[in-house]
Amino acid sequence: MDEDRKALLKNLPKIDEIILLLEKKDIYSLAPREIVKETCQKVVQRLRENIVGAAQKEAMESSLDAVSVAQVVEKLIKGLYHYRLRRVVNATGVILHTNLGRAPLCPEALQRIVEVGRGYSNLEFDLTRGERGHRYDHVREIICALTGAEDALIVNNNAAAVLLVLNTLAERKEVIISRGELIEIGGEFRIPEIMQKSAAIMREVGTTNCTRLGDYEKAIAANTGLILKVHTSNYRIVGFTEEADILSLVALGKKHGIPVMDDLGSGCLIDLEQYGLQHEPPVREALATGVDVVTFSGDKLLGGPQAGIIVGKQDILESVKRNPLNRALRIDKFTLAALEATMMHYLNPDDVVNKLRPLQALTEPIAVVKKRAAGLISKLRKAKLTSLEYSLKESFAAAGGGSLPTEKIPTFLVGIKSKKIKPSQMEARLRQVEVPVIVRVDKEEILIDLRTVIVDEFPLIIDGLRNCLTK
Ligand SMILES: *Cc1c(COP(=O)(O)O)cnc(C)c1O
Repeated sequence: MDEDRKALLKNLPKIDEIILLLEKKDIYSLAPREIVKETCQKVVQRLRENIVGAAQKEAMESSLDAVSVAQVVEKLIKGLYHYRLRRVVNATGVILHTNLGRAPLCPEALQRIVEVGRGYSNLEFDLTRGERGHRYDHVREIICALTGAEDALIVNNNAAAVLLVLNTLAERKEVIISRGELIEIGGEFRIPEIMQKSAAIMREVGTTNCTRLGDYEKAIAANTGLILKVHTSNYRIVGFTEEADILSLVALGKKHGIPVMDDLGSGCLIDLEQYGLQHEPPVREALATGVDVVTFSGDKLLGGPQAGIIVGKQDILESVKRNPLNRALRIDKFTLAALEATMMHYLNPDDVVNKLRPLQALTEPIAVVKKRAAGLISKLRKAKLTSLEYSLKESFAAAGGGSLPTEKIPTFLVGIKSKKIKPSQMEARLRQVEVPVIVRVDKEEILIDLRTVIVDEFPLIIDGLRNCLTK
């Protein structure tokens, strides 16, 4: 090591010295001693590594005195008080955006979370009999009423639901599935991998584009545990295609005494066709085929909290509930509270699209979206943000979140062009403001999609833009 670097290392401030400076600033009112000390050590260690390892220029810059290091440490500790998980404005037009938390919750669900979380609750206490109850009982009745299921169970998400059912019905047994349905959802959920982790043996049949009933039948063997149908939630196979419908699979299962499962994914409880959208099989319709068990998400089309909902025949559900794995995947009281409130809206199917924001965004007439876009432009003009130009554009939004993959939902965008800042820069700055605004970027401008933005969020967009212009 050269002499310069040796000298820099020697000059690094001592931990005690830094701590003394921080104590004068009353640092212990912000964090306990161990955290302060460890943060000092980490900062000095990083400087030391830079001096030893970095290029000459960077190494020289790593030489900080005690006062500067103390400032860095103070900033890091104050940073611990900043919420990292924050609300954002979703201006992307992707309605169920998995990276942006999928479904926003309805006010009633939020209210129930506060109410149930504030004190104790009867989570696992039967108020009628005064003895231990089951957490699943709170939502079972309403889910069964809405879907026509005999029984229901809720776990953490649909991936957990699929894992649990596979493990319960087909541990060390074969599961017959079409090659056209070996889906991947959002990177981590892949049917072959979930199958392996559930200890079921995957028995693929047919081809990517064509799988016939006969393919399933030929694959049935002594060790077959389950026939699985998976909804191709986030893609469609088009052209020369064939698949065995769930009705014929149910008949096949009955004939051979093998249970049949349908992983629906999206969790649609209403008929979306009446709003001009594609047919997305509602849970009730899936169950009416006589299928033994159906799984779906709580935070996709359903519009509720993250959850995996398992519905179906009572005897199957009983064995799923008894699986020790269920305990590891069990849902918490907040999710249950939110799910219960969300589900109640479905008791009024004509009004539910006005109550749950994802459904509202999906079904809102284009004229209403256009009016909101024009409203945003007029609010922006009134805000007199210098150097910005606005335009109204027609485009398409998407359902996202593994739902209605080929649906192009008409929408209106507000294009915002700056004479001073490049659109990519504006997009980046809008991510750094107090309530980040997540936008699309085009060549010349940023785009705000009004299908996923509500009027209440206009002030946040205006504040965000103002902040990003003054940076
Ligand atoms: C989305 C989806 C899953 C995974 O559900 P999560 O709620 O994201 O865990 C599983 N299967 C299908 C068919 C899906 O669409």
